Amino acid sequence: MNQPRLTVLAGPTAVGKGTVSTYIRDNYPEVWLSVSATTRAPRPGEVDGVHYYFVSAEEFDDLVATGQMLEWAVVHGRNRYGTLRRTVDAAMAEGKSVLLEIDLQGARQVKKSMPEANFVFLAPPSWEEMVRRLVGRGTETPQEQQQRLETAKLELAAEPEFDHTVVNDNIQRAADELVSLMGLVAHTH
Ligand code: 5GP
Repeated sequence: MNQPRLTVLAGPTAVGKGTVSTYIRDNYPEVWLSVSATTRAPRPGEVDGVHYYFVSAEEFDDLVATGQMLEWAVVHGRNRYGTLRRTVDAAMAEGKSVLLEIDLQGARQVKKSMPEANFVFLAPPSWEEMVRRLVGRGTETPQEQQQRLETAKLELAAEPEFDHTVVNDNIQRAADELVSLMGLVAHTH
């Protein structure tokens, strides 16, 4: 059986998708990690073209209107994020192992257009741990935290829509398991 070349990693808010994908970017150059376009402003240390393509609202509108987004979504009711179809198609055509780290709404869109892709759900070790991580981040107001927990509950219920679940109990272990699910050889540490 052919290993699907496109893997989608999604999961609830604050489950550590970003940390796992950063680990993969730093340790698995054989994985082609898609760089999304976003309307949010860069955070300190973020590099245009590496972490995201930082675009204006008008540029984003244009990318959507001209059909250049494989999927896109408004995340946390604020900024827009999307996957550029052209870069993903090119990487797949070159035979690369492609990874998209996107939100659940985006994963559902990809499932519609590419049902043969490999869908991996990143799950928290437990609900309590997830609450701890969300609150521990300390960057949101209590009201925002409450809103995010409500969203997280709904997002956790999406697990059965996925082909595989990886539990993020440890970043390195979770990243290695994801890489194995992509049909690549995980490093031994
Ligand atoms: P952050 O702003 O913290 O970098 O990312 C916020 C959220 O946006 C994360 O949950 C991440 O998975 C999601 N995200 C990043 N890129 C994309 C994308 O291209 N499409 C979608 N649908 N979500 C994305």
